[in-house]
Amino acid sequence: RRVGYALVGLGHLTLEELLPAFGECKKSKPVALVSGSPEKLKKVAAQYGIKPESCYSYENYEKLKDNPEVKAIYIVLPNSMHAEYVIRGAQTGKHILCEKPMATSPEECQAMIDACNKNKVKLMIAYRIQYEPYNRQVRDMIRDKKFGEVKYIQAQNSQSSANPDHWRHKKALAGGGALPDIGLYCLNTTRFLLGTEPTEVFAYSYSTPGNPLFKEVEEMMTFQLRFPNGIIVDNITHYNTHDSRFYRVNTEKGWLHLNNAYAYTGQQLQTSHAEGKAKMENHITIPAKNQFAAEMDHFSECILDNKKPHTPGEEGLQDHRIMAAIYQSAREGRPVKLAPVQGTDVFR
Ligand code: NAD
Repeated sequence: RRVGYALVGLGHLTLEELLPAFGECKKSKPVALVSGSPEKLKKVAAQYGIKPESCYSYENYEKLKDNPEVKAIYIVLPNSMHAEYVIRGAQTGKHILCEKPMATSPEECQAMIDACNKNKVKLMIAYRIQYEPYNRQVRDMIRDKKFGEVKYIQAQNSQSSANPDHWRHKKALAGGGALPDIGLYCLNTTRFLLGTEPTEVFAYSYSTPGNPLFKEVEEMMTFQLRFPNGIIVDNITHYNTHDSRFYRVNTEKGWLHLNNAYAYTGQQLQTSHAEGKAKMENHITIPAKNQFAAEMDHFSECILDNKKPHTPGEEGLQDHRIMAAIYQSAREGRPVKLAPVQGTDVFR
């Protein structure tokens, strides 16, 4: 039994990662496409064996309602379009998987959750890292307290970008710059690893004056998250450096360092811990798994078994609340307290 997906938006992620990843899925298959380009629809449908009558434009998107093969809709559009397409998608009665960042504000996230609840469909945010085996291994080692209590984490997700005309550099389409696009991985993964919520944030942002890439969105955001029990998480995200994607979890008796932590592939886990007076260093290797396939199969399983997804809309909403506080802190140059979350356990 495989759940049929309609993919909305035929850009980089859909073409380069998601459609190929279905080949590694056990419970998911692509059955419909939605795009503004009839040429692209024709070409991609032929490549993946999708029927011409299962190809839709943005205007007749709602016709998905009448396609019984489609059980789930996967939204892979620019960030500011997520809310509209999730809400219109929910009205077709199909379950929704939505790319990160969930939206561009907490208010939009709440409207998306409400629309899915009202139409009795499931909503999952595509936080692929939470389905990736190395990150899950680190989470398990933290929970087992293998090296004692966590004291602080350093996390970094940086890359470079070159095209100021791309939607990622337009505030109205992207919602922000490095923070919601790639800094979000540091934020969401830390919350996943620790299984608790930050109580306060302190942030600083910078954009090089005169650089057209950063006229509308931030080039860099560094933000400190303060968690219960004095745990500190230092994060930096940058849109104008060579690729660098890692975190190090520092504990009482050791550390866990995940290189390429937020990348599609190539995770490398190194640990160090004290055994008496000896210092032990290890490289841990576990079988790799396609993260996108794991994420889609999880959503399919939730649909088939009527379960709540591990990363539901509430998970995206919480990240947007924290990101709003990060921007406020950077603007005002002071720490910002976060309101406690009600019912956090529901999504952990
Ligand atoms: P992209 O620019 O390659 O593709 C976006 C698609 O949306 C294109 O096909 C474009 O034609 C279409 N589109 C429709 N209306 C548009 C408009 N008004 N302006 C611009 N494009 C429009 O982007 P992408 O990299 O595929 O990103 C899509 C979504 O996926 C984003 O939300 C992004 O954050 C997310 N994403 C997630 C990951 C991940 O690892 N989970 C990786 C990349 C992107």
